[in-house]
Amino acid sequence: MADTRITLSESELPRQWYNINADSPKPPAPVLHPGTMQPIGPADLAPLFPMELILQEVSTERWIDIPDEVRDVYKLWRPTPLHRALRLEKHLQTPAKIYYKYEGVSPVGSHKPNTAVAQAYYNKKAGIRRLATETGAGQWGSALAMSCRLFGLDCTVYVVKVSYHQKPYRRLLMESYGATVHASPSDQTQAGRKVLSEHPDSPGSLGIAISEAVEDAATHSDTNYSLGSVLNHVLLHQTVIGQEAKLQLEKAGDYPDVVIGSCGGGSNLAGLSYPFIADKLSGKQPNLRVVAVEPAACPTLTRGQYLYDFGDTVGLTPLVKMYTLGHSFVPAGIHAGGLRYHGDAPSLCLLYDEKVIEAVAYHQNPVFQAAITFAQTEGIVAAPESAHAIKSAIDEALRARDEGRSRVILFNLSGHGNFDLQAYDDYLHGKLVDTEYSKAEVEQALAGLRQP
Ligand SMILES: *Cc1c(COP(=O)(O)O)cnc(C)c1O
Repeated sequence: MADTRITLSESELPRQWYNINADSPKPPAPVLHPGTMQPIGPADLAPLFPMELILQEVSTERWIDIPDEVRDVYKLWRPTPLHRALRLEKHLQTPAKIYYKYEGVSPVGSHKPNTAVAQAYYNKKAGIRRLATETGAGQWGSALAMSCRLFGLDCTVYVVKVSYHQKPYRRLLMESYGATVHASPSDQTQAGRKVLSEHPDSPGSLGIAISEAVEDAATHSDTNYSLGSVLNHVLLHQTVIGQEAKLQLEKAGDYPDVVIGSCGGGSNLAGLSYPFIADKLSGKQPNLRVVAVEPAACPTLTRGQYLYDFGDTVGLTPLVKMYTLGHSFVPAGIHAGGLRYHGDAPSLCLLYDEKVIEAVAYHQNPVFQAAITFAQTEGIVAAPESAHAIKSAIDEALRARDEGRSRVILFNLSGHGNFDLQAYDDYLHGKLVDTEYSKAEVEQALAGLRQP
């Protein structure tokens, strides 16, 4: 009988992060200054990030050591378990083997502390006193709030105003870790005051919250900025997930045919898949498939274009080459708030453009239906973001059944949904709307983009 949970000991926790930029089929496209359209250098990023993170951002070293101080904090919940979804397999009557890596066992319930802990550590080491960031649904804000406290840093989080009022529990979690939380737009920054003077009742947006956090960091010398996805160093830190999963599957005597993850900015998918993609790029596993799962309301890879665009909504950041729906595109207010980003991580976009990885998009009703099936077989109520990966894994398993052949499926259960029960309430009471993304709005958002 196969094991239901495959665990690792503390000593098997990875000692290095894996950097895909050492093995990428093409060198990464340069990041450009929006004024000059010339490549930016480390000095341009120095007002916002500590030098060790900037060097990781541009590194092409294959392996980067994980500091002992970071590994010691990881040990609070890592290594995370790999589960064999035996009950789900049985329910689906599939010959496929379904495995999931469960990142919801972290203290805040998602994969996000894997990078938050590392970022807090490097900032502390650089003599920074405080970190500023933004958060939408609150997953990232709570991960950074916890990590800052563990390393003795102050933390300021700008929370999109609607979420601040609609989702009090994530805010209370951040405050329990000692963070200062502002509803954005706030009166703390020029950017926030400007919005408030024009729209006193503004519900806020992630774009406005980013502007506030960046301004806060740029105008205080003891404060840096921190981001929870998209950047190379964030994806790098997440590769502990895939390295552990590889070892766990080895113990189970398996190797995946397909690796699946939901895709907001790309960090949980990259974290799980990059150590496996290394085998594909080296020719060891040429047939490995990797699938990015996105919401149909924000279909960045499946419907976007591969262009230079701003990382934020307002247009303050450098320009990065990525699949994008246009930085001014505002996706519908779906429950998987963590997947509502107009772009994706540049390294992931490059792999998609090179056809190393695939992408699919689903509407939220079938996604929640899959999440319910999962809860009723495996017992875990998944985060709405993670439920996208569940839906894709179930589809792969059903295809294996229809084709009458076995297949090893691995997906990332990036977080639990214990703070997202309103979404389940809406689904269970038929209140979830499946919104199509607006092709006209995407075309408009892409039209104005200046290319080098
Ligand atoms: C933030 C989040 C995501 C999406 O972000 P990625 O950077 O694409 O991983 C997915 N799942 C959970 C649980 C999240 O909190």
